[in-house]
Amino acid sequence: MSVRTRADLAALPGYVPGRTVPGAVKLASNEVSLGPLPSVVAAIAEAAGQVNRYPDSGATAVVAELAARLGVRESQVSVGCGSVTLCQQLVQATCGESDVVVFPWRSFEAYPIITQVVGAQQVRVPLTAGHELDVEAIVAAVTPRTRLVFVCTPNNPTGTALTAEQLDRVVSAVPSDVLVVIDEAYREFVDDPAIPDGVEYAKASWAHGRDNVAVLRTFSKAYGLAGLRVGYLVASEEVTEVVRKVFVPFGVNAVAQAAAVASLRAQDELLERCREIVAERTRVREALLGMGFDVPPSQANFVWLPLGERTAEFNEHCMAHKVVVRAFAGDGARVTIGTAAENDQFLAAAADFPS
Ligand SMILES: *Cc1c(COP(=O)(O)O)cnc(C)c1O
Repeated sequence: MSVRTRADLAALPGYVPGRTVPGAVKLASNEVSLGPLPSVVAAIAEAAGQVNRYPDSGATAVVAELAARLGVRESQVSVGCGSVTLCQQLVQATCGESDVVVFPWRSFEAYPIITQVVGAQQVRVPLTAGHELDVEAIVAAVTPRTRLVFVCTPNNPTGTALTAEQLDRVVSAVPSDVLVVIDEAYREFVDDPAIPDGVEYAKASWAHGRDNVAVLRTFSKAYGLAGLRVGYLVASEEVTEVVRKVFVPFGVNAVAQAAAVASLRAQDELLERCREIVAERTRVREALLGMGFDVPPSQANFVWLPLGERTAEFNEHCMAHKVVVRAFAGDGARVTIGTAAENDQFLAAAADFPS
């Protein structure tokens, strides 16, 4: 007799990580190409010597460092095993089986999977023809059953970001008992002054009695700690309190906590790397536009090529040129901005793609 499991899981697509191919340049997972700074490696090594002890379950050193830098109370910060885990906790903390999570689509691949795993309902709101979040359609999708709205800005995988006006439109239209989660995994790569800082935006919202605005950020992208799994939530206390109730004990390991604190202390140097990636983003996008590709403006550390039916062919073509990109079949390819040399290798492959 086979084990009886949840029938709905049979239809659940697995999360597809970017491929790692020996000998090829990996531009598939929005990681930064450079390794951790020496000060961060030293903190990791020191923490490694104490792993016989359980980690600090509340990640208090990380929380204290973040709260001080962001100008919020420690009780308004929650740390998780990657921000993807916090996404899951947010859905668990807000939704029962008939409740609905609204999110843009295409967007972060984990939203539909997490929502189904938790057992809640989902509404995917298509992007605009310009590959942007469709603010009016998101507002229109919210019903009395909606408990949570994910707003991914800059959006993964299209790179487009919401202006303060667009964010206001969502936040002011959504009832104040529906949680709006601004997923800012790529905030550190934003250089357009029209794009608001989500944490500042949330703080201003709370000051106006809008406690339903929350922000997710991660150490995986700009801070270069993808392999250690640390992310954080900045939210009102009523939200952080319930998010903590659904956490997995000791979910953020001790090495990750030490690395996160060391990375915050080396923030200036890490953010300088981000500025270089932003300059490369501009160079790569302009080169692609020059080759005739359609590339929406990106505020993240990747660019989006909406190749539609030619996506799989482009993917194989890049692979043959030893460049791994992230293809979403039938839709488009997302290409992470790497070092100048890696980007050149990708651009050479793209230039050779038959038009
Ligand atoms: C990468 C990413 C995350 C999560 O990253 P973690 O590694 O789990 O912290 C969250 N949201 C978006 C949109 C992402 O692209």
